Order: sequence, then C-alpha cells, then structure tokens
Amino acid sequence: MHSKLLITSGKDLGDYVAKRFFKLSQDDTSSPNSFIEDYGEHRSMTIQEAIRISQGTWILKEFFKHAENFPNIAVDNALRFASVFLAEETGEGVPSPASHVLEPNIKPLWIVESWRAKAVTKFTGTLNHSSVRADSLSQTVHAFAHFSYLFTKGEMVFADLQGTPAFNNGESVTILFDVMTHTLHGDSGIGDHGEEGIQSFLETHTCGEICAGLDIKGRVAKENDDDEDDDEDTLDRKGKGKADKQLTEKVEGKFSDDEEDIDQLAKDHD
Ligand SMILES: [Zn+2]
Repeated sequence: MHSKLLITSGKDLGDYVAKRFFKLSQDDTSSPNSFIEDYGEHRSMTIQEAIRISQGTWILKEFFKHAENFPNIAVDNALRFASVFLAEETGEGVPSPASHVLEPNIKPLWIVESWRAKAVTKFTGTLNHSSVRADSLSQTVHAFAHFSYLFTKGEMVFADLQGTPAFNNGESVTILFDVMTHTLHGDSGIGDHGEEGIQSFLETHTCGEICAGLDIKGRVAKENDDDEDDDEDTLDRKGKGKADKQLTEKVEGKFSDDEEDIDQLAKDHD
C-alpha cells in the first residue's frame, strides 16, 4: 500500500466536498475504475480517515487544555481539525458514476467535509517531521504532534499535518485535514508506517519554543518495563527513555477508554 500514490477525487456539493480514495499504482496510468480493487478495503480506508480526524479533534482539545497550564506561552488557539462525516449511497440502483464503483450491489461510502480553500500550508511530512518555520502556528502544530505521541503513551503520532485557512463562526482559523497517523500496530489506515513511522518522528522532530514552553521538550513516551526511576526522558535517547509522569498521570486510563469507543465506531460501520 505504501508504494502507491494516493489521490482523492472531489465532488462539489456547495459548502461540502465528498471524497473517495483512489489508489493509483506508480506505473499504472489507466482510468480510476481500475484503481478500486477491493471495496471492503476501500471502505475501511474511508472509515479510518474519519477515525483519524476524530482522534485529532479529541487530542487537539486535550492539547489546548494542557496549554492552559502555561498561559504565557503563545500557542495558536485558532487551530482546528476538519469536521467530517461519512455518507453512504442508498437506493436500489447502481452506484453513482462519480463513485467509479461498477458493481451494482455495492453501496459506496463517501467522506464528506466542509469546503476548504486551495491554499495549503504543509507542516510535517509522512516520515520527515522536522520544522522549517518558526512562526507561532507552525510551532503549535509541531508541539501538537509531539503532544499526540506523549498523550497516547507512544502508541501513535500524527503525521502529514497540513492546514488551510478558513472562517469558522466569524473567526479566522487554520483547518487541519487529510492527516495521517503512525501507530504501534500500523493499523490506522493509509500512510501508517507503524513503529518505523513513530521512530521517524523521534528522529526528525525538533522541539521548538512551544514544546519547551509547554514542558514537553525532549520528552518521550513511557516504555512498559519496570525501570520507573529513570529521569532521562529525552528525544536524544530515541525512544529509550521514560514517560513524562506529570503528563501521563493526567491522562491515565483515558486513552484506552476512548480507544474502545473508536473500535466500536469502526465495528458499527463494518
Ligand atoms: Zn517537541
């Protein structure tokens, strides 16, 4: 899957855009129809994207809560995740031509999100999480990525973070969209490089002023062993350190509970 290029197809619905994934082999230049080989897999990918956005929304909220403890740090609060929902084609007829689904019995699943501007700011890549800008927004996004890794106790980290400007309730905000995650089990959908992806974060992320200001600079997630007294929790140790106890105690138990909810969400959609 990782060797394939991903493109999305947009169908303009006014204020919303409905999207479906198309897989394109690097050496395949034929029509989109041939890219959809496995409808079940396609459906899973679509649901996984919605789950990633939901996780992002939740963890970003926790990030801002954590930042409230440091009122003197210039975190950019005008950061949001795209709001998305899943839409399934209904009816007895054949799937819509826009879905490129040819099987009559398949009910294509779409991911629907608010229309967004074309301007895009790229903050992190899939395996390169280094920072090239020092502005408050960029530093906030990079600190959020670091927070996502700590908050989940090293189980996942956000990658491919990109944003677009938008107005939300009269407020000028940056919307994060099409994000990917790396997870320990490598099962969060397209772009998930598993442990290798998490390791790439540890190797290429550099803590900026906001990581430092929010007291997460250099911190790595706790390992599940019995060496509890080791205080050297630094990124320099490339994942060999201990957790930030202050942070992990605060979220103890919370992630696993919500994870069950997410599993349930996925089952509901199967
Ligand atoms: Zn950092």
